[in-house]
Amino acid sequence: MKHRFTQLRAKLKESLAGGLAPQEAEAYQHKAENQKTTGISRLQIRELLMQTVDQIFSAKWVLPIAPENIVLENHSVIVNKTRIVDILPTKGVAEKYTAKEKIELSHHVLMPGLVNAHTHAAMNLFRSLADDLPLMDWLQEHMWRAEENIINAETITIGTNLALMEMIRGGTLCFNDMYFYAPETAEAVIKAGIRASLGLTILAIPSGEMKTEEDYFKRAYRDYARAPKSDLITWIVMPHAAYTNSDHSLKRCLALADELGLRLHAHANESLGEIEMDKKQHGKSSLQRLDDAGLLNEKMLLAHMVHLTDEEIKLIQERKVHVVHCPESNMKLGSGFADMPRLVNLGINVCLGTDGAASNNDLDMLGEMQSAAFLAKGLHQDPTVFHAPQILRMATLHGAKALGLEKEIGSLEKNKSADMIAVDLSHYFTQPIYNIFSLLVYAVNRFQVSDAWIKGKCLLEKGELKTIDVEKILTELNCWTSEIKRFSA
Ligand SMILES: [Zn+2]
Repeated sequence: MKHRFTQLRAKLKESLAGGLAPQEAEAYQHKAENQKTTGISRLQIRELLMQTVDQIFSAKWVLPIAPENIVLENHSVIVNKTRIVDILPTKGVAEKYTAKEKIELSHHVLMPGLVNAHTHAAMNLFRSLADDLPLMDWLQEHMWRAEENIINAETITIGTNLALMEMIRGGTLCFNDMYFYAPETAEAVIKAGIRASLGLTILAIPSGEMKTEEDYFKRAYRDYARAPKSDLITWIVMPHAAYTNSDHSLKRCLALADELGLRLHAHANESLGEIEMDKKQHGKSSLQRLDDAGLLNEKMLLAHMVHLTDEEIKLIQERKVHVVHCPESNMKLGSGFADMPRLVNLGINVCLGTDGAASNNDLDMLGEMQSAAFLAKGLHQDPTVFHAPQILRMATLHGAKALGLEKEIGSLEKNKSADMIAVDLSHYFTQPIYNIFSLLVYAVNRFQVSDAWIKGKCLLEKGELKTIDVEKILTELNCWTSEIKRFSA
């Protein structure tokens, strides 16, 4: 009898290791129960079929994002070796799984981490330094001047950490960053345990030690080679914009991206002034210049895209370009109202970004979702456009898709990385609870994001950051603020 039990156990274990389908497991269970001579009790069989996993997250609501428009009530997400292995009703969990760690989220929505598809993280250093100014004045007279004098390896680390604290606290677990000192940024990202797409930024205008186009490319190669490596980081080639690059440097960006197998990201059509500048200097529009350099394709993400002609919309649709909508930055800098529902209706992948904290002035993706929805409804004079579930997809799965990370993050599905946030809805800000999508887009406050995990590792627990020393960063920041203030005109 003991021998048969051992045999059956070996068989079941072997099947489980190969991933036993539920029907298969059940069939084994019946088979074993019918073999009365084995003397194996139902309880023993259950124990044999029980899988030990790393974590069980049991939530009042699970918002998987894919499939679309679904809220799973009283469900659990099972995580093993950093990945989601199952999502099932909580009442059935005890029969199938036992875990080293059990996380109860009884008043929470468990959902994928938000993806901020356009940031300049370290610009958190310049929040409130220069506001209510025209775009070019703000950029050239204030931001570029401050950057030239302040940005170094030390300040980059402080500014990036400030941004990481703000993002994690507000539920953003992946961001696409265009800035300088990429290796230092990478180091801060790895220490914090957040996920990032980091830019190798190229301009053809002098800034700091970068005097020529050649200097930028040399730095890009150097940064890429010396940056610490991590599976949390993907790299991306970032020509800042058409108007800040020559046709030659745009073509070189494409060659660099092809050589390293990377995606591309640029600002485009943010304000009418820059489009005019391109037309005057080059005799054609910014998008035409990008297209002529071969940069418009399914690997390109363009941020802003506020002012677009019918021909330009057709062009980006044909080229399968991804678009990052930054509604708050566009409104604050007086750039205009981007008509994103029009692009979405044409099948263009539109995701969301906050832009830097000097032009927003926060990195609050929940707030950005609300702004994107309100702007679209107001612009179209139609409350049905950009409904809440659609906005949530833009802030998660669509961002992941734009960054080429949709197989890894952006939704809660089997085999994806356990990159998740919990949002506590028990606060009176979000009572009563009739519609989860609606509360998350139109009512929630970012402080209601209580917990966050990347690859199952906790980054935020009951509102407390676990991987960044907040006091230390604020003390370091304090040493620099008076120096930075000198550069506000
Ligand atoms: Zn930007």
